[in-house]
Amino acid sequence: MAITDTYLQYGVPSDKAEKYDMLGIPVTTFRNTSNKNLIDKYGLDKHEVAFVKNCIQRKPIDELTILRLLEKNNYTCCICKGVKSDAYIIHHIEEYSVSQDNEYYNLAVLCPNDHDLVHREGVRLTNTISKEQLIKAKEKWEKQVQELNVERASKNGELYDIDFVNIPRILELCLECYGKIPDNRYTNLLKGNQVITDSGFINDEFLNIKFPERKSPFDFYLGLEGAVALRAYIFEIFKDILKQVDFVDLDSLLQKSVIKTNNIAGKFCYYVGGVYGKSPKFPVTASSPLTHIYFRRKPFFVEWTLHPQYLTSSTAKLRLSKRTQYIIYGRIKGIGEKEIKGQKFIYLDIRPYVFGSPIELKNRTPIIHYIKDPTNYDSYFEDDEN
Ligand SMILES: [Zn+2]
Ligand SMILES: [Zn+2]
Repeated sequence: MAITDTYLQYGVPSDKAEKYDMLGIPVTTFRNTSNKNLIDKYGLDKHEVAFVKNCIQRKPIDELTILRLLEKNNYTCCICKGVKSDAYIIHHIEEYSVSQDNEYYNLAVLCPNDHDLVHREGVRLTNTISKEQLIKAKEKWEKQVQELNVERASKNGELYDIDFVNIPRILELCLECYGKIPDNRYTNLLKGNQVITDSGFINDEFLNIKFPERKSPFDFYLGLEGAVALRAYIFEIFKDILKQVDFVDLDSLLQKSVIKTNNIAGKFCYYVGGVYGKSPKFPVTASSPLTHIYFRRKPFFVEWTLHPQYLTSSTAKLRLSKRTQYIIYGRIKGIGEKEIKGQKFIYLDIRPYVFGSPIELKNRTPIIHYIKDPTNYDSYFEDDEN
């Protein structure tokens, strides 16, 4: 394991740990070298040596616990969010000398500055930070980091298992953005197989002749890569669109004040979270009815309308019928009112471009209260759909 990581396990600040790594002083060497030698040979400060010597007598914190803590805190101080310093230190909320408690809940990421402040607690100085404040700050920051991670992942189109790509609408939006279809790493392969034309559009003419039974854009077989490459190709185009179009977090729009003051129809948005849906009937064809996925969060009812022919696989069709986590990119088509079983909802009608499984998740509970039994929910919704 890297020298730096080992020091972190003993609660040594990251900047010091990196320095010892550069100087080539592993923890064992530090421990077995006299203070005098550490000062003379490596030019370390007297207080620093005393501090680190004290740290490395402790029981090391578990590697995975540290990794989890650092990732959930974005390697950043939970008090100042990195404003005061990039360096960080793993701090024991209930002092180590008292608690010897290396569990996750007892650890917090702090910068050296705020670490000093925290350790002054009880000395009755102004500007100190209490344990309670620290626990709250950690909790709040971890939540914020999670939201930031979801936002970053969403803006980069980080998803796997792409379940749906609406080819015509994506190409349309791409033309609006770029005036053409930019090449990507699948372009040559697909052009070589005549799946797409020279200008990058789907070569339906060729595919329809070669595969007269074709029921959906992905329903053809040209070697292992054919249909898979086509959906990856369209998804790459969509990722290019994400660089140009600002998709906003749907959560930021689902507020009465926002709805009142902004005309949100036409806005591009993404949503990360659980949804309900019904699996479309097989076989899916161009004339299959539209299908819906939805969730409600009072007073909002959000529904995505999609054509099942753009579902990318039969597993995608099956996934739709289960409550599942999705990331959905779409454009708000309309907003209005909807009454379901005597209850009024603000209704958002969204047309999706792409959806699949998100890489980064939001912790939704208790923001959305899901009904435990999705079957019940379906019957609840049934009247409205028929
Ligand atoms: Zn700080
Ligand atoms: Zn500390």
